[in-house]
Order: sequence, then C-alpha cells, then structure tokens
Amino acid sequence: MLKDNHNRTVNYLRLAVTDRCNLRCFYCMPEEGINFVEKKELLSYEELEQLITIFAELGVSKVRITGGEPFVRKGLMEFLEKLVNIPGITNVPITTNGTTTRKHLNDLVKLGINSFNLSLDTLDKKRFFDITRRDYFDEVYACMEEMIDRKLNVKLNAVVMKDKNIEDILTMVALTKDKDIAVRFIEEMPFNGDKVHYQQLEWNYIKILDFISNEFSNIEKIPDPLFSTSVNYRIKGFKGSFGIIPAYSRNFCGTCNRLRMTPKGLIKTCLYDSGVFNLRDILRSGANKAQIKTAILEAVGNRAKDGFEAERKNRHGNQSFESMASIGG
Ligand code: SAM
Ligand code: SF4
Repeated sequence: MLKDNHNRTVNYLRLAVTDRCNLRCFYCMPEEGINFVEKKELLSYEELEQLITIFAELGVSKVRITGGEPFVRKGLMEFLEKLVNIPGITNVPITTNGTTTRKHLNDLVKLGINSFNLSLDTLDKKRFFDITRRDYFDEVYACMEEMIDRKLNVKLNAVVMKDKNIEDILTMVALTKDKDIAVRFIEEMPFNGDKVHYQQLEWNYIKILDFISNEFSNIEKIPDPLFSTSVNYRIKGFKGSFGIIPAYSRNFCGTCNRLRMTPKGLIKTCLYDSGVFNLRDILRSGANKAQIKTAILEAVGNRAKDGFEAERKNRHGNQSFESMASIGG
C-alpha cells in the first residue's frame, strides 16, 4: 500500500486525459485565447497505460477520468477498455460535463464503469448558458435523467458562485426529493485560467449550509464515505442527498488519498501545488520501471500536509493562473 509522509494512504489517481473542452465554464477557463496542449505534448494512450500499470503496482486501485472534457478526446472508449483491464485497477469513475456522454453509456456500463460525477451548476437553461457560454442544457439534463433511470451511481457537481447560481442551491436540493441522486455543492476555487480572483470566498461551506437550513428545517447529517471530500446531508424523507465540498476552505486534507496527473504528465500531490515533477518527461527520457517507481515514491514521500502548505511552499504564495481544465478538478 502506498503511504505518504503523513501516514495517509494514497490509492487514487485523478487523470486529466485532455485539457480541451466543448464548454467554457467561466470559473474554469476564459472564453477565448486559451493555449491548449499540442498533441505531441499530450501523454499518448500507450504511455498512460504504461504509467497506470506502474501506479497500480504501487497500490493505486482507483483512477478517475477527468479533463477538460474526457469525451472530446478521440479514442477514449478504446483506452477505457484497456484501463479497466489493468491488474489492480478496480474502480474507474468519470467526471464529465454530460454534453456527449449519453451515447457512450451502454458501452461504459459493459466495461463496468457505472459511477459518474456530472457537472451541472444550474437547473435553469438561461443561467446554464451564462455560466458555460454554450447551449447544451437540454442534453446535460437528459444525460442526468438517463443515468438515474439506468440506476447508475451519479453525483451532480455544482460550483457555487456569487451572483450566478445562488438561487439554484435550493432548486437543486429540491431535486433530491424524488430523484435518488447526490448533489454536491463545491466551493469555488481560484483556477479559472485568469489572473483575476476574489481575495476571499464569500459563499463558503458555512454560508451554503446556512442558506439551505433556512429553507429546509429537517436536514439530517448522513455518514460520509471513507476519504470523502464532501460533508453529506439529507432532507428527511427525500430520496437523494446533498453534500458540500469545502474545496477552498480545505478542511478535508487530513484524509487525502489522491494524486493528480495532468494531460502533459505533470504530477500534483496536492490540488494547490503547481506540480512536483513531470512523469512524461521521465518516461520519454528512457527511464525504466524501477526509476519511475522511485520518482513516484519520492513525490509521495514529500507531500505537503495540506493545501495551505502546498500553496505556500510550492507556489511561494503566488496565486494560481491555472485552468481547472488542465488539473481535472
Ligand atoms: N469537464 C468535466 C466536467 O466539467 O465535469 C471534467 C473536468 S472539470 C475541470 C472537473 C470538475 O471541476 C467539475 O465538476 C467542475 O465543476 C470543477 N471545477 C472547475 N473549475 C472549478 C473551480 N474554479 N472551482 C471549483 N470547481 C471547479
Ligand atoms: Fe469544461 Fe469541465 Fe471546465 Fe466546464 S468545468 S469548462 S465542462 S472542463
């Protein structure tokens, strides 16, 4: 089992297979002027398979596919078929914007992939357009309904944004009345690919929960799964549940079990570091399996205690100009 220098188990890799996307969510990337990664810089599927085999040998069993939008990368389904067959990889959930996912559901289920985080920040078509700058609301909603009908494990991810979707917090909690779905409200993080960020987050987890409590008096706390980043609740009598992810407040670092790999092969041992080493470069320089394992073990053995330490040490206090599309969420 892979353990870090704070005795935390590391068994989960978040893999951003592309930084490209067919939406332009304003909290994630600018509307234009984005320098997407060129194909030759991208880890090929063969390279990914090689690297994930090594991660699996070290103890990683869960690989989340994310991006950018994973389904915009050509050949993803063929890659997934290989990935689910790597010995030791037992869980392959996907984070998707749901714009082109529906047509793959049959094949995904056949591969044993049945857990999805579906990003949907509003139940209002117009606000969806304002937030994502694209007109895909009907398709994403239909994707959500089909996932529920198929009894897949689906979580709705909604980033909470001042002046954008506050009213949606209540309608999305109300959605859990008849739908067996987990809605998770995420604190907005400073990864919009721009140089302009708020100095302090107003809609933090405390304010989000207060806001919901003012409308729904019968909230009950439900158990949080092991390694969960969300703090979870249910309205008594409702089929589904809701959770809040304090991603900006960062109070879940004590149980963090994850590593991230960007489309260019940069390894992040914390969301808030700016990358600790590049695995693609090591691989392409001809390193053998043992050398790659050593590099991974060294990074895992030097993890920051929490997101604040990672930011302080690794970014030297500077704000991030990264886009979440190259980190994977
Ligand atoms: N395109 C896919 C999607 O949107 O689900 C996968 C990639 S996206 C970067 C992964 C997750 O990161 C999404 O749930 C998205 O809402 C979240 N995200 C993106 N930018 C964020 C930000 N600035 N703060 C908080 N969450 C963010
Ligand atoms: Fe695309 Fe996902 Fe970023 Fe939205 S959050 S722009 S869907 S990568």
